[in-house]
Amino acid sequence: TGLPEPAVIAPATADVRPPRPEAETDKYRRGVVGVIAGGARFTGAALLSVGAALRGGAGMVRFASAARVVALVDARWPETVTTVLPEAAPGDDTEPDLDAVGRVQAWVVGPGLGVDARGERLVKATLRSEVPVLVDADGLTVLAGLPAGVRRALLDRRAPTLLTPHAGELSRLLNVGRDQIEARRLVHVRAAAAGLGVTVLLKGSTTLVADPGGQVRANLTGTPWLATAGSGDVLSGLAGALLAQGVDAADAGAWAAHLHGLAARIAAAPRRGLAPAPITAEDVLAALPEAFA
Ligand code: AMP
Ligand code: MG
Repeated sequence: TGLPEPAVIAPATADVRPPRPEAETDKYRRGVVGVIAGGARFTGAALLSVGAALRGGAGMVRFASAARVVALVDARWPETVTTVLPEAAPGDDTEPDLDAVGRVQAWVVGPGLGVDARGERLVKATLRSEVPVLVDADGLTVLAGLPAGVRRALLDRRAPTLLTPHAGELSRLLNVGRDQIEARRLVHVRAAAAGLGVTVLLKGSTTLVADPGGQVRANLTGTPWLATAGSGDVLSGLAGALLAQGVDAADAGAWAAHLHGLAARIAAAPRRGLAPAPITAEDVLAALPEAFA
């Protein structure tokens, strides 16, 4: 790839601890996460991402989406501060007003969002903000579909950017076959981070977190029981909460992967000597406090 060899592939948890609140803190100083997720087709992804942002230690989660998704989030997570984003009229391509959502210290954009013009405008608007942004799922598909120059301009930002693709999403972003990605995961995650100039977390049985400088960390806490719909949405909210608490992108990705895998192991753990059992993404979410502890 022409890239320098990585100095180390460090364990995901080498240098940092997840933040703990200071005695004199308040909910704003603990970090406010803005989640923009869910759309006409998918609503569950929004619920999982918001839940994980709350359990990831943010002081507050703000959520913005279409009215139907907001109603579901309000019902499931009453702690969340929600905003209904008006549906754009056909032909209306004005920028969504993210100021209406309120101040946040990091955005999570993409889970279940949809890949239509509305999704595209929301991804662009978050990336134009001055705070860290995590792009996942449909948000990544939107990014992959943009002309290279537009994408480069959007990702050329001062605040940290963390992309969290699985192999299929990385395949679209790099325009490289999925089989090739799977065969050379380390090479491709580094190429993506260096080429796009952002931090890239490549999900899979081993999760790799690459920063633009070529350093890669690997997480091995996961379990194959994590290969279940919705588990990636939990990861996005969790990593978003860490970004909002001021953790840098590579540390936030590494810690989120570590805690997410641990939570899955706790949820699936053998009980009373019995075999591990299948788990749902909801079970992973429920086990996050124990994983943190
Ligand atoms: P997504 O594909 O977005 O739903 O994310 C799936 C999540 O499950 C990611 O955090 C993956 O790293 C994790 N995962 C998927 N398959 C496996 C596996 N075979 N072993 C461990 N973790 C996995
Ligand atoms: Mg996903």
